[in-house]
Amino acid sequence: MSDFSLELNDDQITLRDWLHGFALNEMRPIAAEWDEREETPWPFIEEAARIGVYGLDFLMSNFADKTGLSTMIALEELAWGDAGLCMALMGTTLGVAAIVANGTPEQQMEWVPQCFGAPGDLKLAAFGVSEPDAGSDVSSLRTRAIYDEKTDEWVLNGTKTWITNGGIANVHVIVASVDPSLGSRGQASFIVPEGTPGLRMGQKFKKMGIRASHTAEVILEDCRVPGRCLLGGKEKLDEKLARVREGKKASSQAAMATFEATRPAVGAQALGIARAAYEYALDYAKERQQFGRAIIENQAIAFKLADMKTSIDAARLLVWRASWMAANRKPFTAGEGSMSKLFAGETAVKVTEEAIQILGGYGYVRDYPVERWHRDSKIYTIFEGTSEIQRLIIARAISGVQIR
Ligand SMILES: Cc1cc2nc3c(=O)[nH]c(=O)nc-3n(C[C@H](O)[C@H](O)[C@H](O)COP(=O)(O)OP(=O)(O)OC[C@H]3O[C@@H](n4cnc5c(N)ncnc54)[C@H](O)[C@@H]3O)c2cc1C
Repeated sequence: MSDFSLELNDDQITLRDWLHGFALNEMRPIAAEWDEREETPWPFIEEAARIGVYGLDFLMSNFADKTGLSTMIALEELAWGDAGLCMALMGTTLGVAAIVANGTPEQQMEWVPQCFGAPGDLKLAAFGVSEPDAGSDVSSLRTRAIYDEKTDEWVLNGTKTWITNGGIANVHVIVASVDPSLGSRGQASFIVPEGTPGLRMGQKFKKMGIRASHTAEVILEDCRVPGRCLLGGKEKLDEKLARVREGKKASSQAAMATFEATRPAVGAQALGIARAAYEYALDYAKERQQFGRAIIENQAIAFKLADMKTSIDAARLLVWRASWMAANRKPFTAGEGSMSKLFAGETAVKVTEEAIQILGGYGYVRDYPVERWHRDSKIYTIFEGTSEIQRLIIARAISGVQIR
C-alpha cells in the first residue's frame, strides 16, 4: 500500500505544462473566432493531431496512468484553453468510449483507429443515443434495429438528436432498440461505418455555447450495417436478451456503460472553464480601480473569489476521486461519477456567472472572454445526464430506493 499523496508525479506535471502551453498559445487566440463561426475547426483539429493531442496514442497514454488522473489533468487544461475547441477534439472520444465499453477486443482493434484517422486524413466519431422523445429517459428510445438473417445485416431506422459530430462523423455509434418491450435492457450499440447508405445529417443546431463543436440530428432510414457491426456480437446479445426475458438481471445497459465511464471526464472539462473564469476574474479584481482602490479590496468581491476557488478545488477533488476509482476498478457505490459531473458542472455555471459580476459591464460583452465561458459552461449541467438525473443516480445509490 503506497503512502497517500495528492502530489502529481513528474509525468503528470509534464503533461499538464505541455497542454497548458498548447491551450494558451493555440486555443485561446482562436477561441472567439470559432465561437462566432460556429463550425468544426478543422485546422485546429489538424494541428492537435499533428502534435499528438488528437489521436489514439494520446488517449492510450493517458488511459495507461493507473492513478486515473492524467486524462482529467489533460481535459482540465484543454477546456481552460476553450471548451468549444476541446469538445471538437473530445466528441470523437464519446464514440470511442462506446466502442471500448461495449465492443469485443477485435471490434475495438478494428474501429477505434478509424475514429481518429491520422494527420492529413482526420476522422471523427459520434455517439448517438438521444432522440427527440427520449433524452433523460433513455429507456424509451424509438430507433429500431431489426436483424435480417438472410443477409446477416442489421437494419436501423429512427432519428437521433443533439449528436456531437452527428452526420459529419466517419464512424457513428448508434444505440437502438432490438426489443422495445424490454426498455433499456433491450437495447444494443451498432457501428455505422463511413459512407453507409441510409444515414444522413438532419438539422444542425445553433447553440448558446461550445459553438466550435458540431451538434446535429442524425436520421437513419433503412440503414443496413453488417452483422459484425453489432458491438459485443450477436451471441452475447442473444444471451443477454434471454436472461432479461427470464427475469434475471442483465449486464449493464449499453448507453449507461458509456456514460458511467465518461462522467468524470465531463466534470474535468467543466472544471477547466471554471478555473479560466476564476483566474481571469482574480486578475481583473486586482487591477480594476473604483472609489480609489482595487475592487478586490472590497470583501463583497474578495469573498466571491474565495468561494469560487473553494468550489473549484472541491470539484477537482471529486473529479480526481471518481477517476481514480474508475482506473482502479472500484465500483461507484454512491454515484461518485455522477457526483463529480454534477458538482463540477454546477460549479462552472456559478463561477462563470460570478466572474461576469466581477467584471461588471466588461463581463457582459464579447470583447472579453468571460461571457463566452458562461455560455460554454451551461451545457455541463445538461449533456451526459442533466444535473437532475445525476442527483437521481446519487440518491438511488445512497438510499437503495427507486426514487423518481
Ligand atoms: C450540445 C449538446 C451536445 C450533445 N451531445 C450528445 C451526443 O453526442 N450524444 C447523445 O446521445 N446526446 C447528446 N446530447 C443530448 C443530451 O444528453 C440531452 O440533451 C440530455 O440527456 C437531456 O435530454 P433532453 O434534452 O431530452 O431533456 P429532457 O430529458 O426532456 O429533460 C428536460 C428537463 O426535465 C428534467 N427531467 C427529466 N426527467 C427527470 C426526472 N426523472 N426527474 C427530474 N427531472 C427530470 C431534466 O433534468 C431537464 O431539466 C447533447 C446535447 C447537447 C445540448
